[in-house]
Amino acid sequence: MTFTSLGLSKALVKAVTEKGYETPSPIQEKAIPVILEGKDVLASAQTGTGKTAGFTLPILQNISEKKNPKYRPIKALVLTPTRELAAQVYDNVREYSTHLNIKSTAIFGGVKPSTQIATLKNGIDVLVATPGRLIDLHEQNQLSLKRVDVLVLDEADRMLDMGFLRDIKKIISFLPQKRQNLLFSATFSKEIKKLAEGILHNPVMVEA
Ligand code: AMP
Repeated sequence: MTFTSLGLSKALVKAVTEKGYETPSPIQEKAIPVILEGKDVLASAQTGTGKTAGFTLPILQNISEKKNPKYRPIKALVLTPTRELAAQVYDNVREYSTHLNIKSTAIFGGVKPSTQIATLKNGIDVLVATPGRLIDLHEQNQLSLKRVDVLVLDEADRMLDMGFLRDIKKIISFLPQKRQNLLFSATFSKEIKKLAEGILHNPVMVEA
């Protein structure tokens, strides 16, 4: 199996080749074609399996197929439990979009919001965020989530462990009803299953 045979564009294959990846990992083989089709996904995957590229690559492809006018609404929203993970996912998004006309950023707490606000003003296609800071900036009208096409909940089990359920529900209320949803989790407790049932529509189950 190759990245090309999974349906990824030349620009994305070039980016992963430059990162030194030779073949897709199992989670990538399973998730990439399904996400490219626009389906919802419930994925069981630990860190280290290549899950980040598994959702980032097809999202970048789907987004770059649309026209990117001067005004760029946020089209993809990735929620992560911690700022470390947000920074890491954002690094991946940036690297994989090297050869695409896509802008991305990460917002998280613990740093002053002014730089994040200035970056958002320039227009962002892919936003990686922790729930608390995202809600703060949304309440301050610094960003709009009305045009989000795809939502990713990364490490959803950790988000629930950290008490983010209410925040996640609140953020979802800011999104359009019609959108693609991807939920990644290492474990599947009753709570995660309930969250997944509430968010995902006819999800394809994917295991690393
Ligand atoms: P992740 O599970 O997303 O945190 O990725 C774990 C590590 O695997 C990261 O350092 C990635 O850069 C790397 N990685 C992701 N996909 C591949 C691949 N297909 N081949 C080799 N390394 C990869």
